[in-house]
Amino acid sequence: MGGKCAVMLDDGSCKVEFKKETSSGGIISSGNRPTDVEIKGSVGLNGQNNFQDVYKIQYALNKVPPIDGGPPSPIKIDGKCSQETFKTIQNFEQKQFGLSGITSRIEPGKSTHLKLKEVSGRYNVFPALPLDLVNDAWLFAGMMQHIPFTKTCINAAMTKISSAQIGGMFSEEAINLLNRHFALDKHPAKQSAMQQIYEIYGFMLNVLNRPDNFFTLDTDNSGETISTVAFARLGGFFSKETDGRIVFRRGTALATGIQDFAAFIIIHELRHFVERQSEDGHFGKGWVTDSGMQRLTPWERIFNCDTYAGFALEAKHGVMERPGWVRTTKFR
Ligand SMILES: [Zn+2]
Repeated sequence: MGGKCAVMLDDGSCKVEFKKETSSGGIISSGNRPTDVEIKGSVGLNGQNNFQDVYKIQYALNKVPPIDGGPPSPIKIDGKCSQETFKTIQNFEQKQFGLSGITSRIEPGKSTHLKLKEVSGRYNVFPALPLDLVNDAWLFAGMMQHIPFTKTCINAAMTKISSAQIGGMFSEEAINLLNRHFALDKHPAKQSAMQQIYEIYGFMLNVLNRPDNFFTLDTDNSGETISTVAFARLGGFFSKETDGRIVFRRGTALATGIQDFAAFIIIHELRHFVERQSEDGHFGKGWVTDSGMQRLTPWERIFNCDTYAGFALEAKHGVMERPGWVRTTKFR
């Protein structure tokens, strides 16, 4: 088993990567794995392809999520430079450097090698103390206390969409807000887009109506290798495996005392959790007025986690100043 997992890091970035899971639902790390990507010879097309070097490169490539050019499913780690390994190197180079940067080979100390070290290194283990639900109940409760408020934000979002669909005295304001966040005015199929957004918020409400089933604290360091804030399985709500949850980690401590911030994180994670098309939800991160968010296409916004979070908060409060806790990370 295993699945794509969307993870929020301390720096505000949120990435999608693969994780292994036990049948009981705990997420296991794979033990003592090498973390360095030092190689003695070249790896890839017409490379020296020493067993140890290939092994390290394969391992490092698997740590890179698809959004950063990693393989869509993990490649075989066997120390042999397979066709699959070439292709993955090519794909990584294309994602990082563009078509002209494809060499299909990783030379020690050269650009592809340096880039792979940098990107895969972002996913190394974070040092963190174990959490437990007895001693850290305050942390979990600190997030859960904001569930009712988060529901009011989602209700407000759904009401805005209904107003826009129905017409009448509130519709213009609602349409303006939908355009601001979802660029509906540029969407070729406004009505069905509105319906889709409405239904996605509806699924989120379903999750929030049963918080005990769907939220938990990372009490066994299951997210140690991937996140310090929160993580959610992509499409976990629709997964046949019923152990999928939205998991909070220590990094949420900052948000427990800030209602809007907590709701923003929860809605962001909910968007991953109710994803049905396996879009990763990270087309842009930040507030709606950030330049990276402004560049998103209407199609991307339908999937973008922070778009849902921002729209729901502004549906609740009205158009807001950019909150100080919003984090923007690099956009692709
Ligand atoms: Zn995310």
